[in-house]
Amino acid sequence: MARTDAIVLGAGIVGTSAALQLAKRGLSVALIDRQGPGEGTSYGNAGILEGNTYFPYPFPTDPGALLRIAFKRATEANYHLAHLPRLLPWLIAYWNAGRPKHMFEFAHAMRPLFASAVAEHEKLMIEAGAERYLRKTGWLRVYRSDAGFESMKSDLDAVAKAGIPFDVLDPAGALTLEPDLAPIFQHATFWPGAASVSNPLAVTRAYDALFKKLGGVVLTGNALSLHRSGANWRVDTHEGAVDAPQAVIALGPWAPDLLDRLGVKLPLEVKRGYHRHFKARGNAGISRPVLDADVGYCVAPMEQGLRLTTGAEFADRDAPRTPVQLDRVLPKARELFPLGEPVDNPDEPWMGSRPSFPDSRPVIGRIPGQAGLWGDYGHTHWGLTLGPVSGRLLAEMMTGAAPFCDPAPFAAERFLK
Ligand SMILES: Cc1cc2nc3c(=O)[nH]c(=O)nc-3n(C[C@H](O)[C@H](O)[C@H](O)COP(=O)(O)OP(=O)(O)OC[C@H]3O[C@@H](n4cnc5c(N)ncnc54)[C@H](O)[C@@H]3O)c2cc1C
Repeated sequence: MARTDAIVLGAGIVGTSAALQLAKRGLSVALIDRQGPGEGTSYGNAGILEGNTYFPYPFPTDPGALLRIAFKRATEANYHLAHLPRLLPWLIAYWNAGRPKHMFEFAHAMRPLFASAVAEHEKLMIEAGAERYLRKTGWLRVYRSDAGFESMKSDLDAVAKAGIPFDVLDPAGALTLEPDLAPIFQHATFWPGAASVSNPLAVTRAYDALFKKLGGVVLTGNALSLHRSGANWRVDTHEGAVDAPQAVIALGPWAPDLLDRLGVKLPLEVKRGYHRHFKARGNAGISRPVLDADVGYCVAPMEQGLRLTTGAEFADRDAPRTPVQLDRVLPKARELFPLGEPVDNPDEPWMGSRPSFPDSRPVIGRIPGQAGLWGDYGHTHWGLTLGPVSGRLLAEMMTGAAPFCDPAPFAAERFLK
């Protein structure tokens, strides 16, 4: 039986970053997953390090969008009817979190995390020798309609007031940045403070390699074997049992599988998303992620090709895949982007589940009623962005250092009042 200072369960970008931040602070850490680091949700995202995020993605209020979604004609969202009864309490809380007061609460609570997110990644990438994956070229949102752009105006005013830099561009300005986009849009916003990565899996693997270099141990095992052993937590792995006084749950969308067993019920649901890769046509391409905002999908240049990622699908995490949004957005994406031949099998699009609390904030902190147990999960649309900075905050709390920002908004207790 091995003994460490801390066990981290889940080697996605969030758990790997947390393990690394703990190892950097001198703790002996075992990082445990049932598969390789970064092969879960963290594999297939759009690669955006969205340090400029201010408001969360709210429950739609536009009647047209709601009708489109209700009648399953929307490109930006889909749902499984059979899942709705279970989802209803979460949906009501999500709708409530979209009220202006709560949107500003989110902005205020999350700003310190977003503001440090890109710098925290860059620091780790330099230490891990992984800078080649980092593109500090911002990202672009294009709007096909005047109405789509107008609907964002009040958000943009709030963002400007908060001092987050962005440029409003006309089509000519946007085409200077991305000349191979078709000029079928009316407006664009450019976010220079954001960055992106060309291979999210490779970034997690590079952090994993750095973690091992610092003495960290990576083991294969089932996180659900976590149990008390005297004053310690114990996990059974393929390499034997590991004990530690502190354990971190960083299982992303699978966190409730373990927490429910421990009697801790927190309202995590998933927003599923899909991706497919395409070759670029001829010598064309794009050099940063681009969101087709009115339609609701993103195309990001990756080492594997141009990665088309979809918006949210509200369904049971383990229900069969229904990639209807990919089918709906693909003709639209071909209008705007120089998409050529598919790279991967069209019958097997990748699917991942964004782990999402209704207030769109993660849990970073102690798990109530479970001495020595911590949580770092629920990063919804921003787990790649926030992995390293969340890991830093968690590691500061676990080692008794002064946290760099107020951790109270991320406490699990907010759901237990
Ligand atoms: C289509 C799409 C696009 C996205 N785009 C972006 C983006 O551009 N920028 C951004 O910041 N975020 C984006 N996201 C969100 C981001 O990908 C997630 O928030 C993030 O990957 C969550 O990371 P995680 O480490 O918490 O979870 P995961 O990566 O899922 O890691 C959890 C780990 O737990 C392991 N695990 C689960 N159960 C067990 C068990 N019983 N035993 C052992 N191990 C177990 C899994 O194997 C997995 O490795 C996107 C998501 C999707 C779906």
